Amino acid sequence: MTASGRVKLKPGDTIGILGGGQLGRMLAMAAARLGLRCQVFSPDPDSPAFDVVLNATCAEYADVEALELFANDVDVITYEFENVPAATAMVLDARRPVLPAQKILETTQDRLIEKDFVKRLGIGTADYADVSSVESLQSAIARIGLPAVIKTRRFGYDGKGQAIIREGDDPAQVWEDLGTKSAILEAFVPYEREVSVIAARGADGTVECYDVTENEHRDHILKFSRVPAAISDELAAQARAVAEKIAHALDYVGVLGVELFVVGGNGGPHVLVNEIAPRVHNSGHWTLDGASVSQFEQHIRAIAGWPLAKPVRHGEVTMTNLIGDDILDYEQWLTVPGATVHLYGKGPPRPGRKMGHVTEVVPASKK
Ligand code: AMP
Repeated sequence: MTASGRVKLKPGDTIGILGGGQLGRMLAMAAARLGLRCQVFSPDPDSPAFDVVLNATCAEYADVEALELFANDVDVITYEFENVPAATAMVLDARRPVLPAQKILETTQDRLIEKDFVKRLGIGTADYADVSSVESLQSAIARIGLPAVIKTRRFGYDGKGQAIIREGDDPAQVWEDLGTKSAILEAFVPYEREVSVIAARGADGTVECYDVTENEHRDHILKFSRVPAAISDELAAQARAVAEKIAHALDYVGVLGVELFVVGGNGGPHVLVNEIAPRVHNSGHWTLDGASVSQFEQHIRAIAGWPLAKPVRHGEVTMTNLIGDDILDYEQWLTVPGATVHLYGKGPPRPGRKMGHVTEVVPASKK
């Protein structure tokens, strides 16, 4: 039997969460509302998720003994970040169901494997090539053209581990600066907008997608999400169908985020997949206040083996990330009519650090 087939939690049971950031924190809060307990595993003693659970394990992801004790204490294990080391997932998987399943991490931790997987499903992506040396970079540039985006295959996030290559740049220098042996080169996509789909898939194969979200980045970090995205119903249906196809193909259980580019062109507007996040996603934070059930609760329901909700959106929603020093304005945000403020309880603000977010909902009846 698959891991997901074995899980049927009861209120009072315990979920183990790997990773102690804001996503783990919000997952644990959603679980608590459903009468479920969480135990968080994180190597960082200042983990914001530790503040909201009774039991926490502060240990390295390579600490096998700590992992085994953690697994013994919980009924099912999930994670809030995709870079869970394979060895960690294996130790845990031998003792308790890990959801989403370990093999999904192998696909989504590596941009080349992920792109190949998406392509095999017949879903569009930017044109891309495997790059492992200056020579292969040069031939990839010759085929794909410039501008292009080079990305490390592993461990990239918020624009880290990637660079745009423009006409006149020296490929040898770009390769040296990237400092990796395995990368992909992607055609630069002249997108009209960036959107994402937050989808949940239950153990029974049911999929529920939230309305398509439009995302605006500043310095490669998500700054605003707006729902619904300003795209046609046909395009929104296309985006949701892409997320659903990916969720089924991965035999996914839990919530995943699919980041997409909306492009124009001869064939009319269409979407290209940029990235799959096998976890709750920043562009889904609006669901906490803007929908009947949040992405965090959907994830908990899915991994608990419980029925998914059919989420109902409350109106037009904007989510603003509080990044770095933005957090210093929290008192002002607290006075904004209709705004709901979420602060993650993190230590000092640093540039680029996600410190909190605010959701603003314009109810459908007020439009
Ligand atoms: P990623 O780490 O792949 O999510 O990329 C971070 C951001 O870089 C995206 O949200 C886009 O704004 C931009 N970006 C990534 N890949 C491309 C591409 N192939 N063409 C244009 N912009 C890109």
